[in-house]
Amino acid sequence: MFCRFCGSELPENANFCTKCGKIIDDAGLAQAPATLEDLIGDPAARAQEDPFKNEKDELGGDILKYGIMSLAFGCTGILSLLGLIFACIGKSKVGKYLAKFQETQGKSTVGKHLCTAGLWASIGMAIYFTLIFIIALISGLADGGSSNTVTW
Ligand SMILES: [Zn+2]
Repeated sequence: MFCRFCGSELPENANFCTKCGKIIDDAGLAQAPATLEDLIGDPAARAQEDPFKNEKDELGGDILKYGIMSLAFGCTGILSLLGLIFACIGKSKVGKYLAKFQETQGKSTVGKHLCTAGLWASIGMAIYFTLIFIIALISGLADGGSSNTVTW
């Protein structure tokens, strides 16, 4: 028979799972919490509640990571292009997440908002620096091209 919780193969007369430690009854079904890990909720038990939890955690963590990087780089100005790229990667991961799980939750929701913020910060910074560049260029030309450096 197989452990209902972790899936490891067990001897037919096993009283508990040698891998995850859960008590097994005659029908091979694990019983109510028996170990301390059960009481505080170990990862295997929580994964049982939501079969996609680990996958959600992983993808959500990815989204969060890209969201943070997009915002961090997006605000720098010089590296805003990187922020834009990270925001796009994060957004595509959000799309993947939504296609799979319908709605974002926890980490993925936070990540989604960070990606949006990062996207706008990147675009805003790109526009800002482009304007500064254009103004610098124009005032440089107005100087008769004598000086290309502009002090603000
Ligand atoms: Zn087990």
